[in-house]
Amino acid sequence: MAVNEPAPPRARRRARIAARIPRGYRPALHLAAPTALGAAALTAAVGLVDAVEPLELLAVPATLLLAFAFEWWAHRSVLHRRAPLLGALCERHEREHHLAFTADDMALRSARELWLVLMPPGSALLVLALLLPLAAAAGLLFSRDAALLGLATAMAFFVSYEWLHLAYHLPEGSAVHRIPGLARLREHHRRHHDPRLMKRWNFNVTVPLFDLVHGTRWSPRPRDGA
Ligand SMILES: [Zn+2]
Ligand SMILES: [Zn+2]
Repeated sequence: MAVNEPAPPRARRRARIAARIPRGYRPALHLAAPTALGAAALTAAVGLVDAVEPLELLAVPATLLLAFAFEWWAHRSVLHRRAPLLGALCERHEREHHLAFTADDMALRSARELWLVLMPPGSALLVLALLLPLAAAAGLLFSRDAALLGLATAMAFFVSYEWLHLAYHLPEGSAVHRIPGLARLREHHRRHHDPRLMKRWNFNVTVPLFDLVHGTRWSPRPRDGA
């Protein structure tokens, strides 16, 4: 969708944002480290699973549901609203990610711009640190194996989020865009990048399940003409 702003100011703004990327930034490390940590945590968690009961397998879809719900909530309420103590996340998301990439200009222009797409360095470690006590609590509430499966699923979700979001921001015609279903997911996120829609619509980045649940899935004929 066209953005009602002439190209030169946008180009200047994009260059200004790109200039804020740290000089010693290493995009390959930023991309590889969360995946490596996620894969290691997933492998360790699955390796520690003992003898899974059929009922414990429900930990996988249950964790995915929670993850989709959390993704919707955090994107809407933390990344697009100034939550107490978390205003910097909103600032980074709206003033860097959304200003750099708009619905008609979604593609990365260089590997360095991974800084503007991936979660901040260290996020994977923070996510794992937050998940471990949750998994311990789930182990007490349900069972050890269910908690380990939930932890493995949550880390797989985190890594999938990063790769899917990156895929949406690859240049038009990239080979990954031919993966079945990816074009629809990408279109869902592309619409979210319209500045007029970003605060109200299409908050899920992976699977738009909770946009359907909450009625925040934008269609080309929205009721309010957005
Ligand atoms: Zn995006
Ligand atoms: Zn957003």
